[in-house]
Amino acid sequence: MSCIDLHSHSTVSDGSLAPADLIRHAAQQGVKVLALTDHDDVAGLSAARTAAQSVGISLIAGAEISVTWRDRTLHIVGLKIDPHYPEMQQGLRAIRDGRVGRAAKIAEALAQSGIDGSLEGAYGFVRENIISRTHFACFLVSRGYAGNMKNVFKKFLVKGRPGYVPHRWAALADVVRWIKDSGGRAVLAHPGRYGLGGTTLRQLLEEFRALGGDALEVVSGSHTPEMTQRFAGLAAEYGFLASCGSDYHGPDRGYGEIGRIPPLPPGCAPVWHDWPEAAVLAVSAA
Ligand code: AMP
Ligand code: MN
Ligand code: MN
Ligand code: MN
Repeated sequence: MSCIDLHSHSTVSDGSLAPADLIRHAAQQGVKVLALTDHDDVAGLSAARTAAQSVGISLIAGAEISVTWRDRTLHIVGLKIDPHYPEMQQGLRAIRDGRVGRAAKIAEALAQSGIDGSLEGAYGFVRENIISRTHFACFLVSRGYAGNMKNVFKKFLVKGRPGYVPHRWAALADVVRWIKDSGGRAVLAHPGRYGLGGTTLRQLLEEFRALGGDALEVVSGSHTPEMTQRFAGLAAEYGFLASCGSDYHGPDRGYGEIGRIPPLPPGCAPVWHDWPEAAVLAVSAA
């Protein structure tokens, strides 16, 4: 169990708890330092900050930004970003606009497989701004096309399946620049999830480092213990800092509980090593 969790989602993207509810839930679970990292949007941060102050959580301003690198989708988590930084705001807005067009294409693709009404259906699950595959997944599960979130992705929403459409997100170089120029730290999210072979993975790590990337998400709710060990080793080898996050999406979304992640393996340099917001951890560990 970790008191610091640097990857979580609210209703602003595809989580099921509103920002303030997410913060209260995190506090109940014993989290002391939390990053809210909604997909491609920072709109939840101000409500989260107010709630965090009232329950004594240190809130880290974050976002999980969608990137296309060599025709693959990657996620870059920005931590301690300035959500008002204009280039960041414009960039995120463009990604969100791209999601709207993609959603229409997903709905067309599903209609070709005989599933009608999925665009309206998916929007029915959107609580704020972002339309994502998760919202299509909720619709498809609600109509009985699959029994749970995991199966609905496997059956309909991943490459090679009827509701998958290719999409071009932001460029890695741009996203790292928005994060760094806004004063933040750039973290490669859940590196074990991309299925990259050794050579491609090393090319990615080299490019990410050259662009100014700071850290790997060594501990992730979606990593096996083997992945955690592997990325701890790679972080040390490449000189990356290490981050940790549950990727919590709410109680009903098939992810792990908030804050319930193992500590960073020995030898990792925490991405929060010089953050005043994380000083509380040293106090509580003493
Ligand atoms: P999008 O950014 O719209 O492509 O949606 C991606 C989101 O779908 C991720 O952030 C996850 O929350 C969710 N997701 C992706 N793959 C799966 C899966 N296999 N099972 C459950 N949720 C998934
Ligand atoms: Mn998500
Ligand atoms: Mn992700
Ligand atoms: Mn995430």
